[in-house]
Amino acid sequence: MIAGMKIVPVRAFRDNYIWLLVHGRHAAVVDPGDAAPVLAHLRQHDLSMCGILITHQHSDHIGGVEALLSHQNVPVYAPRNESFSFPHQAVSEGNKIHFPELETTLDVLDVPGHTAVHIAYYGGNSLFCGDTLFGCGCGRIFDGSCEQLFHSLEKLAALPEKTKIYCAHEYTLANLRFARMIDPENPALMAREHTDSALIAQGLPTLPSTLALEKATNPFLRCDTKAIQRAALQINPHAADSAETTFCTIRELKNRY
Ligand SMILES: [Zn+2]
Repeated sequence: MIAGMKIVPVRAFRDNYIWLLVHGRHAAVVDPGDAAPVLAHLRQHDLSMCGILITHQHSDHIGGVEALLSHQNVPVYAPRNESFSFPHQAVSEGNKIHFPELETTLDVLDVPGHTAVHIAYYGGNSLFCGDTLFGCGCGRIFDGSCEQLFHSLEKLAALPEKTKIYCAHEYTLANLRFARMIDPENPALMAREHTDSALIAQGLPTLPSTLALEKATNPFLRCDTKAIQRAALQINPHAADSAETTFCTIRELKNRY
């Protein structure tokens, strides 16, 4: 991100984060599932919205859009090939979104899997990935497929290691417990649990993480390692045939956990 840009979490519901990209008095809002906490933050910090970015159609990501638009009419960007009740510009991979107020441009990436249609926004070493990649975990499969999610995470894993991961939920500690179970010898995982538990105890977010940290700790990005393959083989004798099969097996294991 450019100098002077701040990325601020606004909490909503039980564990959602609505990320605000703030520069000067301007803010772009990512996945506003609820308008009230966003409006309160805008008022409290004397900010004006310059746009709304949507990753996918689940209500905890879009529920506040109409109320925000009635407060201030701004462009809304949302994934192509999906229907939304609010006016928006449909975007997909290859599109760029420029915010002159923020002096920044974001690239759109297609990252289906959690849902059949899901996009992420990437720019200035920051990734807004909705419910695709989480702190030490990944999204559940709703109407997308496990194969889609595997390829989407591969795409995200190819971004620079210093990329900051701004996902939409605070699931990190629960994900760490599952990761510790299937990857018990991983020292990076133990260190992360220590650090992130301390953050949560202080009421602070564990996010953003970095792609480097996710690659060192997140089992869903480590399907080519012996430890993760070993865990997957316990429930599927073919789990080690490919990284994709290992991935789908541990996604299934996590569903049962
Ligand atoms: Zn979702």
